[in-house]
Amino acid sequence: MPILNRASELQSVATAWRRHLHANPEILYDVENTAAFVAEKLQEFGVDEIVTGIGRTGVVGLINGAEKGRTIGLRADMDALPLDEITGKPWASATPGRMHACGHDGHMAMLLGAAKHLAETRNFAGRVAVIFQPAEEGGRGALAMVEDGLMDRFDIAEVYGMHNMPGKKAGSFAIRKGGIMAAPDKFSLKITGRGGHAAEPHNTADTIVIGAQIVSALQTIAARNANPLRSVVVSVTQFHAGTTHNIIPEEAFISGTVRSLDEEVRTLAERRIGELAAGIAAAHGASVEYDFERACPVTVNHPRETEHAARAAIDVVGPDHVDTEVDPSMAGEDFAFMLQSRPGAYIMIGNGDTAGLHNPAYDFNDEILPAGISYWVRLAEQRLPR
Ligand SMILES: [Zn+2]
Ligand SMILES: [Zn+2]
Repeated sequence: MPILNRASELQSVATAWRRHLHANPEILYDVENTAAFVAEKLQEFGVDEIVTGIGRTGVVGLINGAEKGRTIGLRADMDALPLDEITGKPWASATPGRMHACGHDGHMAMLLGAAKHLAETRNFAGRVAVIFQPAEEGGRGALAMVEDGLMDRFDIAEVYGMHNMPGKKAGSFAIRKGGIMAAPDKFSLKITGRGGHAAEPHNTADTIVIGAQIVSALQTIAARNANPLRSVVVSVTQFHAGTTHNIIPEEAFISGTVRSLDEEVRTLAERRIGELAAGIAAAHGASVEYDFERACPVTVNHPRETEHAARAAIDVVGPDHVDTEVDPSMAGEDFAFMLQSRPGAYIMIGNGDTAGLHNPAYDFNDEILPAGISYWVRLAEQRLPR
């Protein structure tokens, strides 16, 4: 099955939805208007059941096939980012400081297009749950929906996600088995030494000198502690200390992020940051308070479902346009929580040569809507054969 004729027909209407959503971005869980728009469209399509307010502002639409069978979940995210858009496009954000800079507007349009088609044709045995989640951008919206009973309430057997990928050929697909997106954890360190006159360092415990050693030492986690064949990133992104040129500060504050692709390396990094910081601080007569905040887990694609997803993508665009062994990304994705709760897979769709995600010049590429819609439809029909 190449790109559905119907999906090409759907392109203009899906483009209109996408641009409407793009112009009206909302943040985290505060996606009331977005969720209302999604629910209204699902109603219009004749979707059998629409449930709102799951995980605060999430929406689920249930589409019954021509025959009975299992339920599979297809998920899109709804939230935008706190960012000023600079695209100057006619459909640019109407709200300063908010922007769909991650393409979640396009993700919604693709899933709405698929829902419209599936509700019209119902050429499957079972039920499709279209899942629209809030708060993907650091708000654990996927977890909120799972904790609100998403999987059990609708008896979802498998769950699938999709994200656009700038820099990859428009409408091509990429996937891999196992870890595809990293666990994006945060850490912070507060160093307390002994402040004093800059001319009398011997009477102080200098938190800047100590902090500098800690920053350098943290790089040994990737270089000397983790197995070189297992990826980990430790980036220090903040170092605040001091007030003026002649005072050695009493305190220093360091924070950053750890990215890992498996639990073992993640736990190793968490432990080593604490050990290195505490050891270096103690060696200089200072102390340290350490906080490591686990954000979302590694996004781990289940092997069988990855094959199903790849097959659906190949059916749509052909094997030359589906990379089944793409390198993982060290960015995070909270769809990870859904994959912890049910088997499933997360696929990337190329956005073409556009600005990167989270960049103020980014825009979702409407040309890829038919490929995305066709992928969802193909996947649903293939997983729920009549
Ligand atoms: Zn994002
Ligand atoms: Zn995103």
